[in-house]
Amino acid sequence: MPKSPEEIIRAEICALAAYHVPEASGMVKLDAMENPYRLPEALRVELAGLLAEAQINRYPDPAAQQLKASLRAALGVPAQAELLLGNGSDEIIQMLVMATARPGAVVMSVDPTFVMFRMIATFCGVRYVGVPLLDDFSLDTRAMLAAIERESPALVFLAYPNNPTGNLFDAQAVEAVLNAAPGLVVVDEAYHAFAGRTFLPRLKDYPNLLVMRTLSKSGLAGLRLGLLTGAQEWLSQFDKVRLPYNINVLTQALTARVLQHTDVLEAQAAAIRAERSTLFSALEALPGVRAYPSDANFILFRVGDAPGVHAALKSHGVLIKNLHGSHPALAGCLRVTVGTPEENRRFLAVLSPALRS
Ligand SMILES: *Cc1c(COP(=O)(O)O)cnc(C)c1O
Repeated sequence: MPKSPEEIIRAEICALAAYHVPEASGMVKLDAMENPYRLPEALRVELAGLLAEAQINRYPDPAAQQLKASLRAALGVPAQAELLLGNGSDEIIQMLVMATARPGAVVMSVDPTFVMFRMIATFCGVRYVGVPLLDDFSLDTRAMLAAIERESPALVFLAYPNNPTGNLFDAQAVEAVLNAAPGLVVVDEAYHAFAGRTFLPRLKDYPNLLVMRTLSKSGLAGLRLGLLTGAQEWLSQFDKVRLPYNINVLTQALTARVLQHTDVLEAQAAAIRAERSTLFSALEALPGVRAYPSDANFILFRVGDAPGVHAALKSHGVLIKNLHGSHPALAGCLRVTVGTPEENRRFLAVLSPALRS
């Protein structure tokens, strides 16, 4: 008799719920931190030309050299730092954890934070330690340093700004972690375009610092491109677990071209930042809503009945993220991505009556 999946698949995988992506067709989609703006028509036509020329019968450049050169220039990666690319930064997190998954290894982050840190640790059979944030979602430096001392983590992930809370941690607290950590500290700057603060210049000061970025939140979520920068001696090890050709031909060609127009992406990010403060003021003004200041392209807010409000919004065609039930510190919390002015108006128009019902 062949065995059942439960007898063959690892118990911790059987116990997982798959990463759930809700159906969103026809909805105002404010759940996934996407950039709501498309590229200008002229640039889209340019990209269409590249598509027509792309040699999709050939494997991509395994080192993605042209794209890396474009990224270095566009993002200001220090010349001496090495660059590693991933099919989204999720894949980079996976490479990092896979390569460090020695017996007894620990991956550490804060709690609540980006769920993929914990999920990927579980995928790789590595113990995960989440250090609770303080009530205002700031880093609990004392607890963090004690946990580092106790657990000696191979990897510490810090999302800067943090998802789903939206705040930037105090830079000095992050430096305290960098000074104390025996292993690597990965500063995940997925929301850099909306925060404007970065640890890139600190790479030269901290040999155990790696800085991760993604183009997903800045307008290229569909292309899947993440990057990691840091010391060559570390990145050359992680590069060994990177699957060959992980950045496909189309992503390489299209992203390199879009990066010749960073002014377009920057103008869109500026519009989103401006709209973020309009949306924040509107949320704060609503009775029964507590909104948390954000340095990202989303806003976390607390209401009385989060599941009820989430469902009411959904029934009126507006999709946001319900975080109630995901973590005690997020009781009553919802997360809305900053959309276009029109999308945000739709969201607010549906939210007000939903709060009263
Ligand atoms: C969205 C997000 C990512 C993942 O981005 P991809 O590059 O699309 O895989 C990584 N880190 C944080 C904190 C995020 O919020």
